[in-house]
Amino acid sequence: MQLEKLVTDFKAYVERIAMYGQAMSIIGFDAETVAPAGGMAMRAKRAGFFGLEIFKMRTSDEMKNFLSELAPHLQELDKETRAMYRVCKKGYDEGTKIPPEKVREFAQLRSEAGDIWVQARKDNDFSAFAPYLQRLIDMKKEFLVLRADEMPEGGVPYDIFLSDFEEGMTVTMYNDFFDKLKAVVVPLVKKIAASDTKIDSGFVETFVDIDTQRKISDLLANKIGYDLNRGHIGETAHPFCTGPEKSDVRITTRYDENAIFSSFYGILHECGHAIYEQNVNDDIANNILGSGTSMGIHESQSRFYENIIGRSLPFWQYISDDLKGILPDSFKSATPQMFFEACNKSEPSLIRVEADELTYSLHVIIRFEIEKMIFAGEVEVKDLPKLWNDKYQEYLGVSSPTDADGVLQDIHWSMGAFGYFPTYALGSAYAAQLLHYMNKEMDVDALITKGEFDKITAWLTEKIHQHGSTYTPNELMEMNFGEQLNGEYFAKYLNDKFGSLYNV
Ligand code: ZN
Repeated sequence: MQLEKLVTDFKAYVERIAMYGQAMSIIGFDAETVAPAGGMAMRAKRAGFFGLEIFKMRTSDEMKNFLSELAPHLQELDKETRAMYRVCKKGYDEGTKIPPEKVREFAQLRSEAGDIWVQARKDNDFSAFAPYLQRLIDMKKEFLVLRADEMPEGGVPYDIFLSDFEEGMTVTMYNDFFDKLKAVVVPLVKKIAASDTKIDSGFVETFVDIDTQRKISDLLANKIGYDLNRGHIGETAHPFCTGPEKSDVRITTRYDENAIFSSFYGILHECGHAIYEQNVNDDIANNILGSGTSMGIHESQSRFYENIIGRSLPFWQYISDDLKGILPDSFKSATPQMFFEACNKSEPSLIRVEADELTYSLHVIIRFEIEKMIFAGEVEVKDLPKLWNDKYQEYLGVSSPTDADGVLQDIHWSMGAFGYFPTYALGSAYAAQLLHYMNKEMDVDALITKGEFDKITAWLTEKIHQHGSTYTPNELMEMNFGEQLNGEYFAKYLNDKFGSLYNV
């Protein structure tokens, strides 16, 4: 077949997959927000239909033919088509290496394990969950054997799972990254715990009605540059960002009447995700490259707006007066410095999802180290609760009296999602790395103080947003900065910021 026609047909085929995906995102948003309970059964059927169609198209003989016919011509293709090939090849391999009966067996096991985990956590009974966790690990190990050809040279089987969630990441890369972080963060956390400097955040934990908080959400979205003409703010228990493509990117938030920071930072976080999606290049917006490239890079954008901008003193200097114009009188005497300190209060805690910017990565490191041991056969399931607590004691100086708040706290293992956790630490690290390079070209603090976020977003769009999924995370970083993920920037950022906040 002529190459030109082959590429046209391939692109048309891939665009159909993207369209089904877009329909799925609208069904998903609808289900989480306004869809009536009575429609649940049909909704599940519709979602199942589209999900299956996507799976069939990604793993079809037609796709197989496209991939094998394009393979000899990769160097002749433009970069977008080459990227589509990469994404489709990954999807095809993922969907075909494991026999369908194994996929079904695993789905069944996951569903059972999920129910058991919920109950085990309620009952604080790890022994009820342990046999299911064992079976999930055993099945995942079987999958690793079937996927052995994906293992990078000189790597280990667990690398394959790491790359599932952040393409190209390996144990070696994570080891290097986490070692740099640990060396700085573990002693810093201990010094802060022993320090006499205490931060008072009590004044932000007072009652603010939800209507007022909605006004704050709109203020933040408008100021930070989330285009509401192509967006929407909904309300759900678990905030998220989704949307079919750049002309329709929606976010949600959760309001807590006694804690304004909950939705304040939730909004900034989701706006970061949404701004990324809204700024993808028009050429690729409507195909499978039209969304962020990886979980780590996506999270770097949310963390940039939430933490690098939103938890900085310049941001509070900029936003305090506008905010106080909306907030009740009880906030009248609050200064930018007080807000800044309150939003950066750091304390070692047991629960990952409640952790602050400084201690968060330690929760992630613990999970990564444990998963590594599981897949290297260095720890047995029955010993996980003790290993968990020992590591919490070592890194954070706390240990949980219950397994419910310890090894059972996260849903991920019950879903068989091994390799997922480490990506949670990437976002902040990439964000700090981006800040380092951004500062070489402009005075970021000065821009934040003046509220000129459009200049920051323009820089991020040029380096990151416009490319969608055209490049893998490693390619994207390498192309822009001549280096891949480097934990040093985040370690330094944390040391500078929290060292001065706590005078240590
Ligand atoms: Zn996020």
